[in-house]
Amino acid sequence: MNILFAASELTPYAKTGGLGDVLAALPAALRARGHSVSVALPLYRRLRESLANLRRTPLTVAVELAGRPLTARVWQGVSRDGVTVFAIERDEFFDRANLYGAADGDYFDNAARFMFYCRAVTELALTLEPRPEILHANDWQAALIPPLVRAGRLPFKTALTIHNLAYQGIFPAAEFPLTGLAGFYLKPHALEYHGRMNLLKGGILFADAVTTVSPGYAREILTEQHGCGLHGPLAARREVLTGILNGIDADRWNPATDPWLAANYDARRVSAGKRKNKAALLNELGLPPALAKQPLLGLISRLTEQKGLELVLDAAPELLKRGAGLVLLGSGDARYEEAWRDLARQHPRQVAVSIGFNEPLAHRIEAGADLFLMPSRFEPCGLNQFYSMRYGAVPVVHNVGGLGDSVANGRDGFTFSGYHTASFLAATVSALELFNNARRWKEMQTAGMTRDFSWEQRVPQYENIYQGLTK
Ligand code: ADP
Repeated sequence: MNILFAASELTPYAKTGGLGDVLAALPAALRARGHSVSVALPLYRRLRESLANLRRTPLTVAVELAGRPLTARVWQGVSRDGVTVFAIERDEFFDRANLYGAADGDYFDNAARFMFYCRAVTELALTLEPRPEILHANDWQAALIPPLVRAGRLPFKTALTIHNLAYQGIFPAAEFPLTGLAGFYLKPHALEYHGRMNLLKGGILFADAVTTVSPGYAREILTEQHGCGLHGPLAARREVLTGILNGIDADRWNPATDPWLAANYDARRVSAGKRKNKAALLNELGLPPALAKQPLLGLISRLTEQKGLELVLDAAPELLKRGAGLVLLGSGDARYEEAWRDLARQHPRQVAVSIGFNEPLAHRIEAGADLFLMPSRFEPCGLNQFYSMRYGAVPVVHNVGGLGDSVANGRDGFTFSGYHTASFLAATVSALELFNNARRWKEMQTAGMTRDFSWEQRVPQYENIYQGLTK
C-alpha cells in the first residue's frame, strides 16, 4: 500500500510530545513490512536545521488562502528511520523558533498556518507519482484533510488518528474562509462547534477511519465525561473508530544496551542491575546512600493537570512515613514546580526533584526506581508505563485509557480505579508491601521486562484498517 502521513511533529526533528514519537516509529514499521510510506510536515526552522539531507525540489503547490494566492515549495529528505519526508515551505508561517507558539501563548495565526499546511499537503498528494492511496492525518493540525478530500471528491481514502482529544483546533468562525470549503461545511453536521469552527470535529466526521491510541481511550471518549465536547460526533462514527495501543522504540529503551545507565542489565540480572543503578541515581540526585535499602518511587512527567500530581502530593506524607524515597523529573506549570520543590525542601533525605527536560536522567530514573507512579486523570496511551515495565520499575497506574490497557494488575504492575488519593494510596501501599517479598517482586519485574511493546507488534492492526479502506 502507499500511505502519506500528515502530521505536525516528527521526532527527533520537530517534537513537543508523544505525537512526534509515533510519527518516527509507525511509518518506519510499515515501511519495514514493504509498504510505501512518506510523511508530510510544515518546513519548520527546526526541521530545516536538523534534517541535514532535506533538499528543495522543483515541485511547488498552489493554495488560494482566503483570497490570497500562495505557493509553497516542496522539500524532500529521508528521516533517520529511512522514511521519505516531505516539507511544505512557507517561511512567513513556519520559519519560527517554535512549532505552535511561545511562552506568551499560541501563535496568533495558527489557523492560517495549519489550514495552509493541510491544503498544501492535499495538493501535494495529487501530484505525487505513484499517488498515495491513503492520507493518514494526525491530530487537529492535519484534521482538515479528510473534509478537503470529501468536499473535493479527491481520489484518496483518509484515516485520522487522535493522539489527545483535549486539543481540537478551535478557531473563530470568521477564519472559516481559510479552509477553502463551501459555507455548507460551517454547519453543525460538519465543522461548526458552538458558533466557532472545530478542525478535529471535521476530521472525525469526514475521515473514512478514525483511530486513537488505546482501546480504553477509544471507549472513554464516547462518554460525556471524557469526550471533551466531541462525544456526540465520535459516537456518530463509532463503527469506524478503533483504539490501537502505541508501541515503543524498543532499541532506545533497552536496559541491556542503554548508554546512559550506570550498569546495563536484563531480566535475568534485574536485581543486581537495578541495585547498581539505584545507588548511582541516589548519588546523582544528592540523596543519602542509606536510602538504597528503602523502596524508591519514580515519576517523570509533564507537570500539568492531566498527570494526577495532586494525588502523589497528597499521599506523599504517608508514603514518606513508611520510609520510601521519591524522585521526580518534570517541567511545566509553575504551581506544580513549586509544590514539588517545597516537598523536597521539607524532606531532603527522602525526596529529590529535578525540574527540566532531561532524557538521560529519565532513563536513569527508570533504571534506578523500584516503583513508577502514573496516576494520570486521563491518559490517551502513555509511554512511561511501558518504559517502566521494560526497566523493572513496577508501575502504579490509574486504570484509565492506555494505562488500563497496558498494565495487568497484580501481574506486572498495580492499577487503581477512581481518581482519589485514597485509592492511589491503597495501591501504592500494596506495592510497597509486595516489595518486601523479594521472590514475588522479582516475578513481577520479570513479567513486565519480558513483554513485547514493540511497534512491529502493532502494525498489523493499522494494516487491517488500511486494507478495509482500499478493498
Ligand atoms: P505525554 O505525551 O502526555 O507527555 P507520555 O507518557 O505519553 O506522556 O510520554 C511522555 C514522554 O516524555 C516520555 O518519553 C517521558 O519519558 C518523556 N518526558 C516527560 N517529561 C520529561 C522530562 N522532564 N525529562 C525527560 N523526559 C520527559
